Amino acid sequence: MAVKNVALVAHDHKKQELTDWAKINIRYFENMNIYATGTTGRLMEEALGKKINRLLSGPLGGDQQIGAKIAEGKIDMLIFFWDPLEPMPHDPDIKALLRIAALWNIPVACNQASADYIIRSPLISELYDKPRPDFSGYTTRQV
Ligand code: PGA
Repeated sequence: MAVKNVALVAHDHKKQELTDWAKINIRYFENMNIYATGTTGRLMEEALGKKINRLLSGPLGGDQQIGAKIAEGKIDMLIFFWDPLEPMPHDPDIKALLRIAALWNIPVACNQASADYIIRSPLISELYDKPRPDFSGYTTRQV
């Protein structure tokens, strides 16, 4: 069994959806390290009865903390139930998190159906050598 590191974030109107979904899929989380933004993490600890690595609340920097962990190669997948009907004060942080996940080739689920596809993938329990993008051309560029 390969232990995966998952990051969970849900906006306020999506928190119930995420915790309900997580409870249905609790078996998949047994062998995972879970990171979450502050409030999402508190609710997920209650829902899953499992210790979660809780970061700051999203609007207080938690999204950026998850983004930093993605850039450091510490997160395997991001389940982020963002709210398409609500403007957010930390919209730049949300965009930054989605951008950094795309940049580092991290699978992202933005709703239940995409989360189902990710969590039920055979790769969830296998060793998966994710292609890590090569930015050497960028980092050594002449400016
Ligand atoms: P929260 O943050 O889990 O602390 O509510 C989520 C977010 O809004 O990014």
